[in-house]
Amino acid sequence: MVDEHGIVPIGSSEGSGSFFRSPLPDRKQGEDNAYANALAQFEKAVSHLNLKRGVVETLRHPKRELSVTFPVLMDNQEVRVFRGYRVHHSAVKGPTKGGIRYSKEVTLDEVRALAMLMTWKCALMNIPYGGAKGGVVVDPKELSTRELERLTRRYATEISVLMGPESDIPAPDMGTNPQVMAWIMDTYSMHRGFSVPAVVTGKPVEIGGSLGRTEATGRGVAETMREALRIRGIDPEKATVAVQGFGNVGSVAARIAYEMGAKVVAITCSKGGIFNGNGLDPQAVIRHVEEGGCVYNFPNADGISNEELLTLDCDVLIVAALENQITSRNADKIRAKIIAEGANGPTTPEADEILNAKGIFIIPDILCNSGGVTVSYLEWVQDLQSFFWPVEEINLKLQALLMKAFESVMECARIYNVPNREAAQILAIQRIADAMMIRGIYP
Ligand code: NAD
Repeated sequence: MVDEHGIVPIGSSEGSGSFFRSPLPDRKQGEDNAYANALAQFEKAVSHLNLKRGVVETLRHPKRELSVTFPVLMDNQEVRVFRGYRVHHSAVKGPTKGGIRYSKEVTLDEVRALAMLMTWKCALMNIPYGGAKGGVVVDPKELSTRELERLTRRYATEISVLMGPESDIPAPDMGTNPQVMAWIMDTYSMHRGFSVPAVVTGKPVEIGGSLGRTEATGRGVAETMREALRIRGIDPEKATVAVQGFGNVGSVAARIAYEMGAKVVAITCSKGGIFNGNGLDPQAVIRHVEEGGCVYNFPNADGISNEELLTLDCDVLIVAALENQITSRNADKIRAKIIAEGANGPTTPEADEILNAKGIFIIPDILCNSGGVTVSYLEWVQDLQSFFWPVEEINLKLQALLMKAFESVMECARIYNVPNREAAQILAIQRIADAMMIRGIYP
């Protein structure tokens, strides 16, 4: 139903894809609530630290939350209303940093959880940022390119009260890509009257993006996987790998794991997946998808469901799709020796208990997928200095920062005798708490 102004009214079924399809934005409960899970992880880590109660209480909550509702003109001249968020968890260490997600499933609690994880991730990597995240409740695949551009430019304008190269710097996440970042950069620049490339990262290289950024997250996943294999005494050339999610992170991680000599036996995306015990060539699967195919109809492979992939008997399970994939409902069936968390929050705290009891080596999200924000940081530095480095230098800098963080997590796990996730969060939270106390409590 459309009124005489062409506006789809609140509550209309034609508004599906807008936030009105879910009247309670935080309807996910218990183990399915990403923020409850992030808080449970936080409580566990913080119990090992001797922090002031007020510091702990501050870090439990986002620093600020912006919720926006905005109209977008669709190609058929209707106006649809969308909901978006931008949440800053902490700005103690510097400008806030975090991706923007376009998905029908986005909720405020999900964005809060992801912003908190960004704070820990940046602190763990020792990069001078606080944590943020943004999201719009939309399935980008339902929009035309022009509609997506209009939605992006309007959302960018709505959050521009927070965004800026010195205050809050978005990046891509699920459902967004370098083109979306280019529109955000252009919109912000138009409002300022001059080009401000450092306002977002993950941009195309033609407008100030960094070489190596697109593959940085997947590269980091593969490199931390290689370290974990070394620790577990498994030769990467003999390792078998299963990959859930074949987007930016999963496809690159699979390709680089394959280049390291590992055998990629299974790949899934949201529509289904493929298995071949003799190994798949991820680059061929990427080509197949680029040419319009789907992962599940790649030739010379058997079909496999997501649930089957998660419980495959393999050395490494790379989870690179979305949160809450490994839960108390399936954790006891996981047979991989190593879990590489390319996605943010893929394992619930209940599942963690089960996996830890089984002795599975988890490379926690804030370490495993930190390659993305690390090269985003390098992109921002290059934009600010207007001087760009070759890809070899980017990859070397990324590897050095990643390996340092990996070693410090292993050391912390040994010292506190805790699983890797707790160790990574202990390190990160301690650094944030220290920074808070050194700065002092204003006024
Ligand atoms: P993307 O949109 O490029 O790809 C997501 C992939 O997951 C797609 O292949 C999609 O089909 C698949 N998928 C969705 N639901 C699924 C399901 N139920 N089962 C199996 N596959 C499913 O997103 P991305 O950028 O690759 O991000 C993936 C994850 O990595 C997210 O959790 C994101 O927060 C995290 N992450 C991304 C970056 C980055 O730089 N892009 C950095 C750090 C973390």
